[in-house]
Amino acid sequence: MSGCVALVVAAGRGRRFGAGTPKQYSLLAGTPMLRRCMLAFLEHPRVDAVGAIIHPDDGELYAAASEGLQLLEPVNGGASRQKSARLGLESLAERRPDQVLIHDAARPFVDEGVISRVVKALKTAPAAIPALPVNDTLKRGQAGRIVATVGRADLWRAQTPQGFRFREILAAHRRYEGADLTDDAAVAERAGLAVELVAGSEDNVKITTEDDWRRAQQWLGGGTVRTGIGFDAHRYGPGEEVMLCGVSIPHHAALVGHSDADVGLHALTDALLGAIAAGDIGGHFPADDPEWRDAPSEVFLKKAGELIRERDGAIANVDVTLICEAPKIAPHRAAMVRRIAEILDLAEDRVSVKATTTEQMGFTGRGEGIAAQAITALSFAPGKH
Ligand code: MG
Repeated sequence: MSGCVALVVAAGRGRRFGAGTPKQYSLLAGTPMLRRCMLAFLEHPRVDAVGAIIHPDDGELYAAASEGLQLLEPVNGGASRQKSARLGLESLAERRPDQVLIHDAARPFVDEGVISRVVKALKTAPAAIPALPVNDTLKRGQAGRIVATVGRADLWRAQTPQGFRFREILAAHRRYEGADLTDDAAVAERAGLAVELVAGSEDNVKITTEDDWRRAQQWLGGGTVRTGIGFDAHRYGPGEEVMLCGVSIPHHAALVGHSDADVGLHALTDALLGAIAAGDIGGHFPADDPEWRDAPSEVFLKKAGELIRERDGAIANVDVTLICEAPKIAPHRAAMVRRIAEILDLAEDRVSVKATTTEQMGFTGRGEGIAAQAITALSFAPGKH
């Protein structure tokens, strides 16, 4: 007899996330949940071997999720969680480790500290589980109404891995086979084993619902960020107003162009198209096409926004710099931000409009026209780009 073996229970036929994959094989920032669990135990210095208990239909998924890892042969689970855990323990009957840790594959954020605390407690206790106190006030409800407030003083939220002396937990599982208990500690309790509580971790969450899964992806910052940059310039001609970032500003000249010559929105449209590698504004809206003569440039910007949404992208931010000596931009800046936010259906705090001069140097400095630069960042969920 020697050592400590970790078993990850992944035999459930529960919810499917993402592309219809069973949740234990769903990718979190590119790595299947089950693989994350197995890695946590493989990397722990006090764990000598790691195995998984899987569903008989998941052989191929398991092979992909465990590629390149040094693991025990996977064991097929049974119809209930309790049966799956027992089959996993039976598979170790010949190896007879001193200790076994049984972990739920739905807790992919298990860390070294939690594992260490359980292993340490097993030096003196026959069983130990990580747990956290209940902080919320608990109510008992019936038909949508509170009937009692439940004392929470002695209540704990049980996590995994749950650790046991191997011989004792195997005997308990054999004895209470079919009792349909929801965790291994309950089997140990039924057998009269003293189960010690050690500190769990708030990060060691169980991924049960689609919301849990999405939140986990956000924590991990999964997905892709793409950026785009745009530049445009238009010269002055006769007229009495300029269109800048969707706002008409009275001026002693107008900007010349096929459309309304809004340099700000043109630069921004190119930045957005650039971020998704979708060409440029001239390709989508050719200057020789009469359809776009005097067109409001918001049409172009809206189109770029739609192309991003079609690709399941989200605009994280846009930032436009207008380069001119006149007109003064500051009095119109808030209106420009509001207009861009409206066109792209964004919150205003994701939109920035700035202005600068070139100190009377160059074509903008001589008042021959106005230039604009824009930059954007887009975010895409994992698997999208
Ligand atoms: Mg232009």
